[in-house]
Amino acid sequence: MANRVALVTGGTGGIGTEICKALANMGCRVAASWLAGVDDGETWQQNMQAAGYNFAIPEGNVADFEATAKMVKAVEEKLGPIEILVNCAGMTKDGFLHKMSKEQWDIVIRTDLDSVFNVTRQVINGMRDRNFGRIINISSVNGQKGQIGQTNYSAAKAGMHGFTMALAQESARKGITVNTVSPGYIATNMVAAMGEKIIKDMIAQIPVGRLGTPEEIARVVTFLAADESGFITGANIAINGGMHMG
Ligand code: NAP
Repeated sequence: MANRVALVTGGTGGIGTEICKALANMGCRVAASWLAGVDDGETWQQNMQAAGYNFAIPEGNVADFEATAKMVKAVEEKLGPIEILVNCAGMTKDGFLHKMSKEQWDIVIRTDLDSVFNVTRQVINGMRDRNFGRIINISSVNGQKGQIGQTNYSAAKAGMHGFTMALAQESARKGITVNTVSPGYIATNMVAAMGEKIIKDMIAQIPVGRLGTPEEIARVVTFLAADESGFITGANIAINGGMHMG
């Protein structure tokens, strides 16, 4: 497993950061993608260096097909062919459907679902040629059960697993596994933005009685990314503290 090249989109985010660290800890050379104008990838990279991690930081909007082509090219020139892809970039723009604008719908579908096509399409042929690949799509419990105020996000995250199952079948004979990981509510900025009252109400619905941690998501990602996990494909692994059981 040592030295495999991994790209984590949204790698500088709350969950993405822990995934990058966990993949590096298992010997991978890791690139974390980020979005200029919102994120500060350089500061993140310096903080990671201070913590002993050396990550490449390709910039690129995953909602834009041409930008992902450039981003993947930059990673492959720097680190070599991408063998592990974690599609982790994502966002929310919540609102009831009867008040949702077309912009709110489009930006979430483009960022959370189109992005999976955009980035995976750049790496799939190389994985097929080399007869090895690990693709892990970070979905959500809300793609499994639906969530009030999140028709856009629930649709995108449910669509992600349809993509996983179809591509898993297309790629199975090529040594490529494709899996979905569906986190429940995890302690990151995305959840902190919901506010204290909503978080308290959410925790009341989680049998384990707390939010999950990004490390708990990263643990499953590294499990799926391992060479030894070649018989697990097309799965959707729930990590939600018992909140939803499929
Ligand atoms: P986060 O900290 O906001 O991280 C999301 C990352 O995606 C950020 O680095 C963000 O960059 C990046 N991103 C957003 N739009 C992008 C774009 N167009 N192009 C490139 N990068 C973009 O959130 P998180 O909690 O770690 O979430 C990571 C993933 O887990 C997401 O897919 C999310 O839907 C999923 N998830 C999270 C939870 C949870 O409870 N936290 C639960 C279920 C699923 P910027 O900072 O520049 O926007």
